[in-house]
Formats: sequence, structure tokens, C-alpha cells
Amino acid sequence: MALSNAYLIDLMARVEARNPNDKQFLITVKSVLESIEPVVEKHPEYVKAGVLELFCEQERVIKFRVPWIDDAGNVHVNRGYRVQGNSAIGPYKGGLRLHPSVTEDTVKFLAFEQTLKNSLTGLPIGGGKGGSDFDPKGKSDFEVMRFCQSFMTELFKYIGADTDVPAGDIGVGAREIGYLYGQYKRITGLYEGVLTGKGLSYGGSLVRTQATGYGLCYFTEEMLNAAGKSFKDQTVVISGSGNVAIYANEKATQLGAKVVAMSDSNGYVYDKNGIDLACVKVIKEVRRGRIKEYLDVHPEAEYHEGCAGIWTIPCDIALPCATQNEISLDSCKALVANGCYCVSEGANMPTVIEGIEYLQKNGVLFGPAKAANAGGVATSALEMSQNSERLSWTAEEVDAKLKGIMVNIYHNVANAAKEYGMEGNFEAGANIAGFLKVANAMYAQGVC
Ligand code: NDP
Repeated sequence: MALSNAYLIDLMARVEARNPNDKQFLITVKSVLESIEPVVEKHPEYVKAGVLELFCEQERVIKFRVPWIDDAGNVHVNRGYRVQGNSAIGPYKGGLRLHPSVTEDTVKFLAFEQTLKNSLTGLPIGGGKGGSDFDPKGKSDFEVMRFCQSFMTELFKYIGADTDVPAGDIGVGAREIGYLYGQYKRITGLYEGVLTGKGLSYGGSLVRTQATGYGLCYFTEEMLNAAGKSFKDQTVVISGSGNVAIYANEKATQLGAKVVAMSDSNGYVYDKNGIDLACVKVIKEVRRGRIKEYLDVHPEAEYHEGCAGIWTIPCDIALPCATQNEISLDSCKALVANGCYCVSEGANMPTVIEGIEYLQKNGVLFGPAKAANAGGVATSALEMSQNSERLSWTAEEVDAKLKGIMVNIYHNVANAAKEYGMEGNFEAGANIAGFLKVANAMYAQGVC
């Protein structure tokens, strides 16, 4: 697709001139503008009120130094970020990512996507994202604690239960959220729901850990059902072996699928008998080990170095749950050639744009990240509600709400795509449905 609306072409040129170094952010903005072109043509009032200019400019980009001391007494300095993308429909909300690849570009593109994703949940949350180029891998618990305390010593100035509520993402799980929360409480003296993904003993929500993976499967099952299919008896490949991947595996298996492969950033395992998830949980959640250790327990399985090869394994359904740009155009070709008919994204922007186009042209059901993986942030918003009420809901209550939200997202996305003449294009439908709610709120609030 290419932009054809003169106003949007000019707007995109201005966004490019203003963000010359933010490659992924520009790719993301362009892809969203392409999808919402028919919306902009139908709503000239948005153009007149500057809604699109405001939408493409993040409200605030915060960048700071994070000094910390390792166990040997050496000083390290990392860089921290918080991008407060859009607060038209609620407080900024979005995860913190700790990974050496994190740059300002990464956090900006993720915040931009998050605004649309959060809008799709139907809950009152705006978009934000943050993180650092700190690598928690190979660090001791005390080193991770000192880093998190230093990170929060700066971040606390900008966040709060009613202003900006960060959560976990790559490299930020229960351990990191605990250290961050402890430091926030120590500095501010406030016991408030300023972070989500907290431990159950201090304000966390049941099912938050499982929410993104489970939600991905609820969305995907609804998309499959609408096409007369389901997870039952299907062969599934899942990339990653972190939080999203593990719980996507758990739910897909409960829905009757056989998951035959999982990976980490070094390589992937293929177990034609079906991945032993309990074994993966011990390796990843208990020992923080590498996926190749799976073969110590299951020598009959195969291990291959490198990540891309996982997409050459024949499967019916592929669930990318590791990171951005992990499925190239070649990988999409291999998936289609091997009979894969559904790709649904657990990770954020795992499929390159040309790959998405290829999948759609070849009739593959494609569940875009901002819709398919919205279950995590939706459950975070449910955690915020419980914190405000000072109540804890049961696992069944939270899971039922999560399922309802994901089913609803599928129908909103499918209906928006149909209404704007792109039936079956859930990527466009997600951008349109997400944008409309934010745009209406921005329009109502005026130029601010
Ligand atoms: P985790 O850190 O728990 O797991 C990430 C997994 O992806 C690990 O297996 C990791 O391997 C692998 N990985 C990371 N970077 C790369 C890379 N460059 N190449 C290949 N594999 C890689 O993160 P999450 O499971 O929380 O997040 C996964 C994805 O889901 C991300 O895109 C995140 O933004 C998205 N997401 C997460 C949500 C959540 O609730 N957690 C909510 C919505 C989206 P290794 O251990 O070797 O690093």
C-alpha cells in the first residue's frame, strides 16, 4: 500500500523530517496512516482540527541517565526512556523493556502502537512505553535491583496512578516490577497502583502473568472460528520462550492444538511429539536458562542455532511471540509454502510490512499485534481497577473479562475493516478502530 491522500503525504513528509533517525517509528506511522486514509477522507473535521498532527507527535519523550554499580564495584551508565505517547482517552499505559537493543526509536514506535492497542481494549487507558538498553541477562539479582532502583529514582518524577502507569515487557517480569515498585514507594511514600504486573501479595491481579498469551489465543480462536476453523488438532509454532510465548503455548494446548516448536534469541527447539511446556517453564521461569537445555530432558527433540529457521517448520498456525521484525518476507514465503494458514502476533510488530502484505495476498488469516496481544494491557487496566477499589477479583472473573475483551476486539476490528471496504484485513481494521476512538476524544478536547 502507498499513501495517496495529498494531506497525508505532506504530513508524512513532515513526520520524516522531524524524526530522521527513528526508522521503526516512521515505518509504523506510515503503515497506520495508510490504513486510516479512508477515515481521514470521511472526517475532514479531524484535518481541520489538527488531530492527525497531534496524533503523530508523541506528547513527551523523556530520556535519562541510569548509573548503577555491579557486584565487583564497577560503575555502569545506561540510558533510560519513557515516551508518553497519547493521553486522550486515559493515563499513559505501556510496558518497560530492558534489552540492549532499546533506543529512542524503539520506545517511540512502541508507544505509538500502544496508543492504538489500548484504545482497542475499550478501557480508559492512553499510550506510553519505556525502557533501557540495560541487559538483565547474566546479571545477579542484586545488580538487577540496583539498576531498577536507579531507573526508578529518575522515572518516579513522571509517573503516578492517574498519570502514567508502566508495566513489564521484554526483560521486565515480576522480579523487576517488584524492585521498581519498592523504590517508587520508598521515594514517594505512596502505596498506589503506579505499576501493573505486581506480585499478588502487593496489589497484583490474578491472570496478569498469563494474560497476553491467553488473550492472543482467545483473539485467534475467534478469528479462526469466523473462518470456520479452530485451534483443535492444529500444529502450532511459537517463537520465543518468555512470558507471552509460554502462556500462548499453555492456552493453545488447552484449546486442543499441538505446539511443536519454541525458541529464544540463540536458537529453537523442534519436538514433533509436542513441546513439554512444564520443562520449558522450569528452564525459563525457574532457572532463567537457555532453550537448548530442553534437549537435556528430551534428547529426541531437535535444537537448531539461529532464530529464523523456526518459520521453516511446517505448521497450520504461527504465533510469533519474541520480538519485532522476527518474521522476514522470506520467512512468510516459507510459512505459506509449508501450508500455514494463520499468523497471529503475540510480540509487537514481529512481521515485516512486506511480509504482512505477502501473507494477506496469499489468503493467510493475519492477527495484528495491536489487536491480538492487547490482552496483557487490558488485564493491566483490570489490575488498576482492582487497585482503585482496594479489591482482588478471582482468577475466573479476570479470565472471563479478558476473554470478553479479546472477543470484542476481534469483532470491532473485523467490523471496522468491513465498514471501510477492506473486509478480512484485520491490520487495517485494528488501525481504524483504534484510531477512531482516540481521534474522537482528541477532537472533543480541542488543540492541546
Ligand atoms: P520476555 O522477555 O519474557 O521474552 C522474550 C522472548 O523473546 C525470550 O524468549 C527472548 O529470548 C526472545 N527474544 C528477545 N529478543 C529477541 C531477539 N532479538 N531475537 C530472538 N528472540 C528474542 O518478553 P515477553 O514475552 O514479555 O515479550 C515478548 C514480546 O511480546 C515483545 O515483543 C513484547 O513487546 C510483546 N508484548 C508483551 C506483553 C507482556 O505482557 N509481557 C504485552 C504485549 C506485547 P532470550 O531469553 O534469549 O532473550
